[in-house]
Amino acid sequence: MKSLRETLTEANANHTAVGHFNISELGTLRGIVSAVRELSQEQGKQIPILIGVSEGEREFIGVKAVGALIHAIREEYDHPIYLNADHTHSLDKVKAAAEAGFDEILFDGSALSFEENIKKTKEAVAIVRGIHPEIVVEGEIGFIGASSEIIETKPELVLSTAEEAIRFMNETGVDVLAPAVGNMHGLLKEMVTGNAQKHLDIGRIQEIKAAIGGKWMTLHGGSDTADDNFTAAIAAGMTIVHVSSELRLAWRHGVEQGLMQQNEIAPYKIMAPSVTNVSKVVLGRLKLFNSIS
Ligand SMILES: [Zn+2]
Repeated sequence: MKSLRETLTEANANHTAVGHFNISELGTLRGIVSAVRELSQEQGKQIPILIGVSEGEREFIGVKAVGALIHAIREEYDHPIYLNADHTHSLDKVKAAAEAGFDEILFDGSALSFEENIKKTKEAVAIVRGIHPEIVVEGEIGFIGASSEIIETKPELVLSTAEEAIRFMNETGVDVLAPAVGNMHGLLKEMVTGNAQKHLDIGRIQEIKAAIGGKWMTLHGGSDTADDNFTAAIAAGMTIVHVSSELRLAWRHGVEQGLMQQNEIAPYKIMAPSVTNVSKVVLGRLKLFNSIS
């Protein structure tokens, strides 16, 4: 099976993106895996995906448990499913993820000052390289909001510049850059009701991509971005695209539907509509992310 590095090199060359989806329980994972297997079968090729777990999600499942779970699924289906330690804020948790067999680790120092972010990210890179040099390390600059939930007011976004991106990449040695380019974590209430969408700064993506010599980049907070905005961002250089809030919303609606079956108490039967809902969202996103050549 290809390594995540090989997969990202390929996506970068083809101007496609690897879809990244967060999980905190088995139903969502099942929905994601069934979607990627279905699409892979349909297209006659193995479509790679990244499963993300934030610090909270990792704590809920267990960092070693999620490592073992993803490895087992990868083996069982012989499919390129990779695991990312999403938004890791402490160096201890970077170490724990590296030891638990994660394929990628995002050290997120974006809440720190720029100087402090560089310093801490550089330390995170050294820790990971010391444990397993193959692990892909990502760093984040700018500010795109903190949580993948439904929010009332738009956070004060701080967009990244090409100058910051060059300095950050050169001084930290990360493999992947997560810049702020108009993307945002979470969903605004107007987005849920279909009255607003996110707008990415495609020119800025191109500029940053050129400034860092075509290195890998991640688009965070992808939920509720318009399809043509997504494809333009991928064509401009995004290598990984994160979608989480959309899945959480689809999951919640499915659980509500499942609970309407008054006499049903089998958890996997109550969860069934949420698995279907998640699967539909993932299928649509994967088709889009893998459609550009
Ligand atoms: Zn994120």
